This record gives sequence, C-alpha cells and structure tokens, in this order.
Amino acid sequence: MSLEQRYDAIVLGSGVGGSCAAALLANEGCKVLLAEKRAYLGGRFSTSDHDGYLCATGGLAVQVGGPIEKVCAQIGIASGQRCTQRRA
Ligand SMILES: Cc1cc2nc3c(=O)[nH]c(=O)nc-3n(C[C@H](O)[C@H](O)[C@H](O)COP(=O)(O)OP(=O)(O)OC[C@H]3O[C@@H](n4cnc5c(N)ncnc54)[C@H](O)[C@@H]3O)c2cc1C
Repeated sequence: MSLEQRYDAIVLGSGVGGSCAAALLANEGCKVLLAEKRAYLGGRFSTSDHDGYLCATGGLAVQVGGPIEKVCAQIGIASGQRCTQRRA
C-alpha cells in the first residue's frame, strides 16, 4: 500500500508546530504520519539527557491562553497536565 493510500497527511518535523498540526489533523479523523529526522520528538521544545541532567533544547514555558494551550484544549489535554516519562 502506498503512502498516499495509507495516510491523509504527512507532517515533516515533530517540533511543537508539526506536533500541533498532526494532533489537530488526527483529532479531525485524518490518518496522519508524523515523520521526524532526529532520534527524539519535540524539536526545540524538548530536553536532552546529559548524564541524567535534562537540559532544555529551547522552549520551557507555555504561554497561558496561548496557541499551544488552545491546541491542547482542542485535543483534550487538560491544562497543567505534564508528561514526566523520560526518554529511553
Ligand atoms: C533557547 C530558546 C528558548 C525558547 N523558549 C521558549 C519558551 O519558553 N516558550 C516558547 O513558547 N517558545 C520558546 N522558544 C521558541 C520555541 O522553542 C520555538 O518557537 C518552537 O519550538 C519552534 O517549533 P517548530 O515546530 O516551529 O520548530 P522546531 O522545534 O525546530 O521543530 C522542527 C522539527 O523538524 C525536524 N525536521 C527538520 N527537517 C526535517 C525533515 N526533512 N524531515 C523530518 N523532520 C525534520 C527537526 O529535527 C525538528 O525536530 C525558545 C527557543 C529557543 C531557541
């Protein structure tokens, strides 16, 4: 089966922009492939592990009432909910 047959949309890059776009599309019922060239998700809104110390790759703060919070609300993630799972 070709990619065109398997997916309605292919999003390149799992930064906050791509992740939000993919999440909104999936929430509307689209079959989405989110492709990331790096070994981890999140782009400049992630963390890198240095001997157990997690360092931000960029963004740390999410604007209250801003676009990220609005997307989270739209896809059913409660405000203030956090992911504490560490990268393998
Ligand atoms: C030091 C710093 C601090 C910041 N602090 C904040 C903050 O506190 N709050 C805030 O809201 N914003 C902050 N920002 C800004 C915020 O981090 C960025 O605006 C946001 O992360 C950009 O997201 P993006 O999805 O546009 O791009 P990126 O995060 O750059 O994501 C792009 C992704 O696409 C991938 N990619 C690229 N090409 C391909 C390809 N061909 N195929 C597959 N994958 C590909 C990359 O590997 C990457 O994962 C900060 C930025 C920096 C640098």
